[in-house]
Amino acid sequence: MISENLATIYRELPSAVELVAVSKFHPLSAVLEACKAGQHVFGESRPQELEKKVKELQTIPDAPEVHWHFIGHLQTNKLKMVLPYVDMVHSVDSLHLLQEIDKWGKANGKVVDVLLEMHVAAEETKQGFVEEDLLDLLLRQADTHPYKGVRICGLMGMATNTDNEEDIRADFERIADFFEYLRDLCPELTEFTELSIGMSGDWKIALEYGATKVRIGTAIFGERQY
Ligand SMILES: *Cc1c(COP(=O)(O)O)cnc(C)c1O
Repeated sequence: MISENLATIYRELPSAVELVAVSKFHPLSAVLEACKAGQHVFGESRPQELEKKVKELQTIPDAPEVHWHFIGHLQTNKLKMVLPYVDMVHSVDSLHLLQEIDKWGKANGKVVDVLLEMHVAAEETKQGFVEEDLLDLLLRQADTHPYKGVRICGLMGMATNTDNEEDIRADFERIADFFEYLRDLCPELTEFTELSIGMSGDWKIALEYGATKVRIGTAIFGERQY
């Protein structure tokens, strides 16, 4: 099942686009099955669950190589459960969180790869920065580079949860246009290159808007076991 689902996605995914297999609410055994099928990048959205899987994986002899990305809302008191284990945080949704990750990076001699989450969806509940705050932040980073504990690698966004394709396209277009605008404005931010958009229901649309990473859960692992 998992291997067939992955094969279907690999067939249609351009090789330059990274697949983040979202394994939240699925057991480590599902992750291991995906590894056997060639997948090595996984997304988790809850600190406890991530930590549990990391520890469990460490007990497995000849464990496969797994790269974890954090994609969920992250509270600043949970950084220690997440940052030591992940290659990237996609979901930096406030200046306060960015500042705390930056502090952690500096204190630990690391530079944490992050994406800034842009608020585009119609849902009030979705987190993220609005355009003017992103602009502010990026200009400051380009100018005096105050956040040396993080590498701001790009933007992440979630489209409105709807079946209306026009609404989804409008959300992706807005984030993609703003991404290009920021890149043009701050060419000195050479690492600002990633656009993480697209989930199970809309990743093929996201490709049309320049996604460099897609985050796919259900279409690989099936319905989540809450
Ligand atoms: C759960 C989740 C996904 C994956 O959603 P699917 O619809 O199962 O593919 C992607 N991105 C984020 C931020 C998520 O929380």
